[in-house]
Amino acid sequence: MGDYAAVVMRDIAVQDVPDARCWLCGGATGGKGLPVKRAIKDTFTDRDKARRPVSKSVCPGCVFCLSYTSLRNYSILATEDVLRHPTRSEIRDLLLDPPEPPFVFCIAVSGQKWLHFRAQVAYDQDGFPVQFEEMTVCVWRDPLAEWLEVVENLYTVFSKEEIRTGQYIQNRIKQFGLARFQEEEEKITKHRGTRLFDLAVFISQKKEV
Ligand SMILES: [Zn+2]
Repeated sequence: MGDYAAVVMRDIAVQDVPDARCWLCGGATGGKGLPVKRAIKDTFTDRDKARRPVSKSVCPGCVFCLSYTSLRNYSILATEDVLRHPTRSEIRDLLLDPPEPPFVFCIAVSGQKWLHFRAQVAYDQDGFPVQFEEMTVCVWRDPLAEWLEVVENLYTVFSKEEIRTGQYIQNRIKQFGLARFQEEEEKITKHRGTRLFDLAVFISQKKEV
């Protein structure tokens, strides 16, 4: 894994809470956290996504995450000891060469949604869950690498939207070269529409020519 800047954040004050499970993530509170009324702001719009609606307590981890809007605005990679906000090109490289598990990976698209509590912990570097905005994507490293290579070849001429939908502008096919186009397109046609393919298109980068 590359050498990315870690984010330093202070801990957030918590208190004793009565519920064993967190209202938001469903995880263990350890008897600490904040009441839902204090931890969850009126502007929080994903109340229906709460994993333990009967609880009235929010765990220290969720209290922490909800205290920093940067954890909503930016993508998150959390390992056991470091938290990072990777850029899109860093996300690309990290998905192809993930850190030692366990880790949690959230890719923010809108930057307007809290993703951490929906994310699953990754335990394997070759197949691992990633929270891609509201979707959970299982990343299989080998297919991702193969598809990404094709996508980035196509992206030298076509737009991401064309590659994602398969609706190519005819003139560009000429520009790319018909035979070459058919060869590349054949490798990805049957994967189009899958979550992993959409993720591959999202993280693809312009090749330096
Ligand atoms: Zn929680």
